[in-house]
Amino acid sequence: MTTDGCVPIRSSIAIGKKVLVIEKRDHIAGNCYDYIDENGILVSKYGAHLFHTNEEQVWDYVNRYANWYNWEHKVVAKVEGDLLPIPVNITTVNKIFGLNINSEEEMKTWLDENREPYLNPSNGKEAALNKVGAVLYEKMFRHYTKKQWDKYPEELDASVLDRIPVRSNYDDRYFSDTYQALPEGGYTKLFDAILDHPNIKVVLNTDYFDIKDQVKGYDKLFYTGPIDRFFEFKHSLDDKLEYRSINFASETIDAEFFQENSVVNYPGNEVGFTRIIEYKHFGNQASEKTTVVKEFTTDVGDPYYPVPNAKNQTIYEKYKADAEALTDVYFVGRLANYKYFNMDQAFKNALDLFKALETTPESLIQEAI
Ligand code: UDP
Repeated sequence: MTTDGCVPIRSSIAIGKKVLVIEKRDHIAGNCYDYIDENGILVSKYGAHLFHTNEEQVWDYVNRYANWYNWEHKVVAKVEGDLLPIPVNITTVNKIFGLNINSEEEMKTWLDENREPYLNPSNGKEAALNKVGAVLYEKMFRHYTKKQWDKYPEELDASVLDRIPVRSNYDDRYFSDTYQALPEGGYTKLFDAILDHPNIKVVLNTDYFDIKDQVKGYDKLFYTGPIDRFFEFKHSLDDKLEYRSINFASETIDAEFFQENSVVNYPGNEVGFTRIIEYKHFGNQASEKTTVVKEFTTDVGDPYYPVPNAKNQTIYEKYKADAEALTDVYFVGRLANYKYFNMDQAFKNALDLFKALETTPESLIQEAI
């Protein structure tokens, strides 16, 4: 799900450093920002954020700043009027094809007979065909991808479609990671706790590029915005580095529930949006009404997603070389690395950088944070 370059900086503080956070928006927490809306429901301003990780160090880190409750995210897709589990599992195949598969062995046989094998899928189309075959590709992946990226799967790296597994059992969880959880009280609260230290100053409503000439005397600058903007788009005269943004259409429904699940995907091209999120499902929140948000992916607006394909990677490599030539500026998070990081990978990216830069012994750091 939507994740971004929310970067943990607290470790640095523990060893006596001072941090100034310069934030363009009027709130902290980046795209993880959430709040209680007019219906009394905790909603995310920039799309649902589902935390999942296999990284012990990341899990330990986030547990220092919030209590987390287990939340195994599930998604269903509306296909020709039916609600089907995604990732594809036994139930998905039985419903779409009217079959009665009831064992892992039978499902494996079905997949073997229906998938189109590619040894090394070279793009998103081959990746999806390799896993589920042509019919499911058409019904669940092709048009959704076009709506999401304004590109068909063959125009994207295999890694984009490989984010979604295929299951030969009844497992209907969206993710397979060991730790799947949400922070009690929301992500803004988590980031508030991370930032709550006398050595951290946060300045909101301030675009770094408006004040960069005044930002002087720092040891290190950690930049989390789009990498091409940092270099004034100098390698983008012919071809721009592409990003995707999302328009959110929010509405209140005067009913207890609108849909049976937190997220319903619409993989067909009969509607323009990709999915509908009903926030009250997360954490089983109670309220008389419900808030639902339709997501329309778009080219304009704040960049949320880098667009992973070979052409963009080539442009990014030029910016990356410029970034590596700088000695006191570090590029952290999804936009600055031009990588489709999940939340845990964004945390790991920052924690790894911290460890690479910090010379204080690990034992003293652990004691201090
Ligand atoms: N995808 C799809 N159909 C779906 C769900 C996902 O085709 O019902 C494809 C689509 O290309 C999407 C990618 O898989 O961009 C990754 O999906 P994910 O849910 O990880 O996207 P995110 O939550 O980051 O927007």
